[in-house]
Amino acid sequence: MYNYYISAGSNQGDSRAYIEEALASLQKDLAIEVKSIASMIETRPWGYTKQANFLNTLWIIQSKLGPELMLAKLQALENEAGRARNIHWGPRTLDLDIVYALKEGKELVYGSDDLIVPHPYFWDRLFVLEPLAELVPYFTYKGQLISERIEALQKELGHGNTDEKENT
Ligand code: ATP
Ligand code: CA
Ligand code: CA
Repeated sequence: MYNYYISAGSNQGDSRAYIEEALASLQKDLAIEVKSIASMIETRPWGYTKQANFLNTLWIIQSKLGPELMLAKLQALENEAGRARNIHWGPRTLDLDIVYALKEGKELVYGSDDLIVPHPYFWDRLFVLEPLAELVPYFTYKGQLISERIEALQKELGHGNTDEKENT
């Protein structure tokens, strides 16, 4: 059994609707059980900054499906949201990444040509860590507590990156 930590983001079109529709599809999927759902937060763009703010959230889902099959499901949902692939880290209707995973309760480390888990940047991204901290306040990675990592990243930026918005 796997637990997948899925980061969802959107900054194009009706972002909230794209994210909510993807979640509803996962909840309907008989091969998946959605375990926890973080609040949606508004965040500033990361990497390529000349674009609209994002809505981001994170879900923990459970499944017997291996990582490649899970990635295929997520990419199908991105396609359903009309995701076009152009600028790297540019605007998108829906982005679904596997940021972290457990296999039988232990950290999954997986690498292939089209999938790397844990996601190479997840520990550097407040838009991933803030929703994750809401769901798993004592999450630790490489010996560091998530709250300490968030504080360090916020200090690096010189400000908080996010404006909290409640998920309704
Ligand atoms: P980033 O991965 O830095 O967040 P991105 O989400 O904008 O960038 P995409 O264009 O959505 O990048 O994806 C590019 C490719 O990344 C995908 O086609 C997929 O094969 C690959 N990929 C590698 N690791 C992962 C992962 N953990 N989750 C999702 N996709 C991944
Ligand atoms: Ca991404
Ligand atoms: Ca992606």
